[in-house]
Amino acid sequence: MVQTGTPVKVASHPLVQQLLTRIRDYQTPCGEFRQKALQLSKFLIYEAMSELCTREVGVETPVGSAKGVALTDYIILAPVLRAGLILAEAAQELMPQARIYHVGLRRDESTLQAISYYAKLPDSLPPDSRVYVLDPMLATGGSAVAAITLFIDLKVEAVHLVSFVAAPEGIKRVHDKFPNVKITTASVDANLNEHGYIVPGLGDAGDRIFGT
Ligand code: URA
Repeated sequence: MVQTGTPVKVASHPLVQQLLTRIRDYQTPCGEFRQKALQLSKFLIYEAMSELCTREVGVETPVGSAKGVALTDYIILAPVLRAGLILAEAAQELMPQARIYHVGLRRDESTLQAISYYAKLPDSLPPDSRVYVLDPMLATGGSAVAAITLFIDLKVEAVHLVSFVAAPEGIKRVHDKFPNVKITTASVDANLNEHGYIVPGLGDAGDRIFGT
């Protein structure tokens, strides 16, 4: 794990980096892309959730007593539609009890601004809520900031963004507005191009996951 100064964590594990390399490749077909992206998602979620709070519990095994732990946070997954669904699928497999609030944001291709088209959130959330905003591509940061704002407005203190690839511009935009939001990613790439795509990135994550 490489720490790039708080709070961006770049998962440097060889398995993570090998999966990222496969999904970057423009020749990787859709089926394999999805499969590898799902595996990558599991590793990134695992890494991001190493911060979870626990309490000690006892457990009886068939041959004795052992000490164990139970998770204590109220965990919320917030996939940004549609590409974030792959991270949510992985997270849900690891943590079936997590609540999922989908966030629908699309990018106006001329202004690159995030436009909200779906967010069905409660009026309030428990004080021990821990929100994972899931978006494979942290590009301009517009969608990330919009999604994070929804939860900060609900007084959630612990918000963590999980992405496959992040651009320096997106990281800066998120941290300028929310310095305490942690970011876990598999790579911080060079920059954005004039269309707001991450370079070298992996292309349009949604199109590649869903084969559109
Ligand atoms: N969204 C994507 O899917 N890819 C990018 O490079 C930027 C935003």
